[in-house]
Amino acid sequence: MGKEILYHDLASMRDDVRAFIDGPKRMLIGGELVEEGSDGSFETEDPGLEQTLAEVPSAGQADVDAAVSAARQAFEGEWGEMVPTGRAACLNRLADLIHENFEQLVELEALDTGKPTNSTRNIDIPFSAEVLRYYAGWATKLRGSTLDLALNPEKFHVYTRREPVGVAACITPWNFPFVQTTFKFGPALAAGCTAVVKTAEQTPLSSLRLAELVVEAGFPAGALNILSGPGHSTGAAMAAHPDVDKVTFTGSTDVGRTIIGASAQSNLKRVTLELGGKSPNAIFADADLTRAIPTAAAAIFGNSGQVCNAGSRLIVEESIFDRVVEGIVEIGKNMQLGCALSEGSELGPLMSARQLERVTSFVEGAVKEGATAHGGGRAEGPGHFFAPTVLTGLSADAVANREEIFGPVLVASTFSTESEALALANDTNFGLAASIWTSNAGRAHRFAEKVKAGAVWLNSFGVFDPNLPFGGFKESGWGREFGIEGVEAFLEIKAVSMYIGE
Ligand code: ADP
Repeated sequence: MGKEILYHDLASMRDDVRAFIDGPKRMLIGGELVEEGSDGSFETEDPGLEQTLAEVPSAGQADVDAAVSAARQAFEGEWGEMVPTGRAACLNRLADLIHENFEQLVELEALDTGKPTNSTRNIDIPFSAEVLRYYAGWATKLRGSTLDLALNPEKFHVYTRREPVGVAACITPWNFPFVQTTFKFGPALAAGCTAVVKTAEQTPLSSLRLAELVVEAGFPAGALNILSGPGHSTGAAMAAHPDVDKVTFTGSTDVGRTIIGASAQSNLKRVTLELGGKSPNAIFADADLTRAIPTAAAAIFGNSGQVCNAGSRLIVEESIFDRVVEGIVEIGKNMQLGCALSEGSELGPLMSARQLERVTSFVEGAVKEGATAHGGGRAEGPGHFFAPTVLTGLSADAVANREEIFGPVLVASTFSTESEALALANDTNFGLAASIWTSNAGRAHRFAEKVKAGAVWLNSFGVFDPNLPFGGFKESGWGREFGIEGVEAFLEIKAVSMYIGE
């Protein structure tokens, strides 16, 4: 291990964060802030100190039923009847309130996830507000179309309508808890749906603060409900609920399969899934390595590798392999591990003891399979810290090369021809994202066409924008978030045909 881990002192947290943590933590059900969960409560911890931060309500079946019923009533009532400019105004007001409470949310999100406040200040919280503003814009721009029948166009006047699908359940993960909720309820509400949100049990705090802001923003009761609770109970009850019309989920591929099953066994609710990845990052010898190397490091070490689209498989042209790997290992060694509130912390802990065990066992397994581990490894506690690690010498079918590790662990391999690079890039069950680095424009676009991934980044990585559709090929998911595609995921198409003449 290189540098010492920077530990923070919880006494240094902001007064308004302390006040929220010490005060009542309440879910939002039918416009009411509810402190008691029908399944009791559970604790959330600071993953850097392994200390309990707060106790929060655990939503049981009764809370899920109440939230879904409130959402249904709002859908058939005030929210459903609200004009599109009204829906847009609600989303914009919420975005304003995120900005008014910016530093409190920055710190709360950082404490609950362990990531440095620098990250939540520059990414999570501002992006959340932008996402809501973006979707507020779509609320007033939805439309159907007119069309001609192929067989007897003269006899029918035909048009399509876009209508909200109904009550949407939004189930989100712990790696970007606050912003992930906005990816889901933003387009749902813009489309005219109502929503029931559940964030991951590891990171409920920012969403429970959001619940208070939703009340302050003046949303009609039941339009947006927010629950806290575990996946196997609260989440499962939402996914199986017969009065939920749509589930939108981000998380592991295994839970994604469970959600498909719950839909199949209940009411065939619509499902959008954003699942795992094992995204290739291919670097050719003609690339600008001054950008490619630091970006490749950030692509896997950022957020401690707990990112679905992390660039976790590095594929490098043979002649520059050693130089690229050494550069990335060096960057990893220099990254400062630390707690959320520690000045200078660049890399937070992993989310949980379970996650630390999982990442450790992948690396140990890889070494047993013959890999060399460069740098990093599990750090001395307290805290679930794991330092940046690069694995070389693994075959394409080694476990660490195929499964999503969800930690700061990069697997690096070499190629010698363009077709070999492409074959390696596509040699995965996932298909979320892919990067390629080259100064040959033709090659870049050939690769973009042939790689099986929902997002392709040429000479870049991690281009996220609310107007850019994001989602996976293959086992990385169903459907897209962001862009008009993200709103369409909450709309049904109705085809209306009227007989107009002989
Ligand atoms: P993990 O914590 O193992 O990484 P996921 O990342 O898939 O699990 O969890 C993502 C979200 O899915 C969380 O909000 C979690 O509570 C929820 N979840 C977990 N299991 C289920 C389930 N069986 N049904 C619905 N939601 C679930």
